[in-house]
Amino acid sequence: MINPFVDDFIKQGVFKTPAIIEAFKKIDRADFVPPELKERAYINEPLPIGEGQTISQPYTVAFMVELLRPEAGNKIFEIGSGSGWQTAILAHIVSRNGNQKSKIKNQNLGKIYAVERIKALYEFGARNIAKYNFIKKGIVETIFGDATIGLKRHSPFDRIIAAAAGEAVPEAWLKELKTGGRLVAPVKNSIWLYIKKSEKEFDKKEYRGFVFVPLVKD
Ligand code: SAH
Repeated sequence: MINPFVDDFIKQGVFKTPAIIEAFKKIDRADFVPPELKERAYINEPLPIGEGQTISQPYTVAFMVELLRPEAGNKIFEIGSGSGWQTAILAHIVSRNGNQKSKIKNQNLGKIYAVERIKALYEFGARNIAKYNFIKKGIVETIFGDATIGLKRHSPFDRIIAAAAGEAVPEAWLKELKTGGRLVAPVKNSIWLYIKKSEKEFDKKEYRGFVFVPLVKD
């Protein structure tokens, strides 16, 4: 069985959403770690992916994706895509209507813009995501660069999710979120959920006690 930690997270109540559980069961974490670490891919811990970075701990990804509440057809800005594991999970969720045999043409499959600032990881992530054909199908676009400046040309976004922690949530991300949209981002050792109520108003909630790699500006 792939990703056996999924059943633990269901029992522990971490998972609440069937579409998210399905994605975590389909996107094999072993496809997103370096070959010599495959045996450890199913343990609930972060693992090194090179360049001093890590593939996030499964529990953290599960917790953050549940807070994000991605929906079919969503356009998502992902900061720090690293191995591409979370990217592929999000791609599976936003495109799920397109997986069914449907007569509707040009239906919205959703889109993940996955930004990574380290070249070797940007390449590693793209190779991993391609194993699931999400790039060929146009559901994922991988972008090399510093995401702290935002991604204006593809904004506004239904959802924004970051995997590296800064001192504050960058202004550009708050601006590029649609009204009604959700942002999940680490700040120091907390995960923050922002829900955009209007152009300048946000509902915010803090979840403490996590560890992240730093968000690095170029
Ligand atoms: N979800 C990924 C997390 C990787 S760790 C996974 O599970 O594999 C976080 C990533 O954020 C690292 O790869 C790091 O290089 C990247 N990162 C840090 N600062 C960044 C920035 N300013 N822009 C884009 N990516 C950044």
